[in-house]
Amino acid sequence: MTVAEQLDSVVGRVASVARRAGREPDSVQLVAVSKTFPADVIRSAIARGQRVFGENRVQEAQQKWPHLKAETAGIELHLIGPLQSNKAADAVALFDVIETVDREKIARVLSEETKRQGRSLRFYIQVNTGLEPQKAGIAPDETVEFVRFCNQELGMTVEGLMCIPPAAENPGPHFALLAKLAAECGLRRLSMGMSGDFETAIEFGATSVRVGSAIFGTR
Ligand SMILES: *Cc1c(COP(=O)(O)O)cnc(C)c1O
Repeated sequence: MTVAEQLDSVVGRVASVARRAGREPDSVQLVAVSKTFPADVIRSAIARGQRVFGENRVQEAQQKWPHLKAETAGIELHLIGPLQSNKAADAVALFDVIETVDREKIARVLSEETKRQGRSLRFYIQVNTGLEPQKAGIAPDETVEFVRFCNQELGMTVEGLMCIPPAAENPGPHFALLAKLAAECGLRRLSMGMSGDFETAIEFGATSVRVGSAIFGTR
């Protein structure tokens, strides 16, 4: 199948699970994860109507996206990978949504850069729902306080929570935990679910699913 056909198929699956869950199909945003794929492949998804994309590395995104954004109006680019402070200014200049705010230091730098550049980004807090030592993210029991800190003390626009469940576990309980934490924070948006589990994530209330290989192929 071509990228356009695989995109159509994922869009269709998102819509049918959403309907089955009693939700409007457009209540679930599809973030097409284009990391490692070249601009020409991404262009075929854009030509098919996709406008929201995710990349996990600032440097790689800088090589592809300024052109692609200039070619097509209405592109929304999400950073879904870890961010170092020394890349924060570049990230703020290029991305529209940063989904991986995971510690106080990066939150402070992002807040300052957003103001300095006069940009109006939206942010997600990444939660380490499995408390995995090698994985980024705020601990579940620190999430409510961290969201309050980012929104109220730093003046950021935190719109939701994001998680990447442990690869070897059933993702359902992690999605349920993220949904519960978001409710406690008064946040409505949940970025959860990838190629292998986005349908489950939608059943648990995902408002964004981040799908790469099911659209673009194996990396
Ligand atoms: C790569 C990546 C995805 C997409 O993964 P697929 O399994 O290819 O759909 C989603 N979220 C994050 C954070 C990623 O790094």
